[in-house]
Amino acid sequence: MIDDYSVKREMLVKRLVDEGILRSKKVIQAMLKVPREEFVLPSYRSLAYVDMPLPTLKGQTISAPHMCAIMCENLEIEEGEVVLEIGTGSGYHAALCAEIVSRKGYVITLEIFPELARFAKENLKRTGYLDRVFIIVCDGSEGPPFRDSILFDKILVTAAAPKVPIPLLKRLKKGGRMLIPVGATEFYQELVLVERLGDDKYTYKSLGPCLFVKMRGKCGFKNFSGPGGI
Ligand code: SAH
Repeated sequence: MIDDYSVKREMLVKRLVDEGILRSKKVIQAMLKVPREEFVLPSYRSLAYVDMPLPTLKGQTISAPHMCAIMCENLEIEEGEVVLEIGTGSGYHAALCAEIVSRKGYVITLEIFPELARFAKENLKRTGYLDRVFIIVCDGSEGPPFRDSILFDKILVTAAAPKVPIPLLKRLKKGGRMLIPVGATEFYQELVLVERLGDDKYTYKSLGPCLFVKMRGKCGFKNFSGPGGI
């Protein structure tokens, strides 16, 4: 059935393609398929396809579609991969990753607020992604609370850290990629692409400025005033 939301979704995806932000077939298909209106709070549904972050719960936000697109494109997620996300929020970005990895892969996503984990679980269940997205309530700033030997193809961090947490670096497979917003000050963050080339060999590249809510927890910020840190 063609509804108003799918028309708006198609228009947004077309614009992101025209702007050169969306480039690959797999990310375009995922953005066309995942219904963002099912991941925003009911009061914001009419704004689901405006390209902006929207409030969720506990002063947190669902990222703008263009930021999700930039992150999925630059992580180069493939079918069958295992992805770790820090900051489940609404579950929308995890659903995009789940679409791309397909049923051959899976996504583990960590959320510090139980209220948001519950919100995401309902959204992911309703939209059919709980078969390959696993939510864990924990401080994800140090990685998942299970064995260090379990490594990930891709790591997606959707809350800004003061610096790249070392425990997360160690969770990347060789050849793996991580995207993380990093900013030591309250007002400026850069989206950093990390690649693990060898045991202790990593490369770092900035993809430009961004604004995310602040990461909490052991490797996160201690002070939550200012933009992005309600
Ligand atoms: N990816 C989300 C948006 C994330 S907003 C989406 O698609 O909607 C950032 C999220 O990170 C918030 O839900 C916040 O509660 C969570 N967060 C912040 N610090 C965290 C930490 N240390 N561990 C796990 N989650 C954290």
